[in-house]
Amino acid sequence: MSQQCPKIGSCNLFEGKLEIPEDSMIRYKCFYCLCENTRWSNCKRFMVINEIGYCPDFVMPNSLLSSEQIMSRIRWPKVSL
Ligand code: SF4
Repeated sequence: MSQQCPKIGSCNLFEGKLEIPEDSMIRYKCFYCLCENTRWSNCKRFMVINEIGYCPDFVMPNSLLSSEQIMSRIRWPKVSL
């Protein structure tokens, strides 16, 4: 397995697009994204990206929300019939 998260190119947290303190972002990157022990596979953002193709910005790598709770908080666009 790669030692870097395979979702690095599609993750707003890794790309620095989230409004979180810089020290938190660095900590997440060291602990999850670039971890030698493939800890990224336990990152909640990684799990959500795998499931639906992207991760909403409110989800942090160590989120305790379940996938179901995260999905229910995403506002899906309404479709007119
Ligand atoms: S925050 Fe999670 S999904 Fe994003 S790059 Fe880091 S380990 Fe991967």
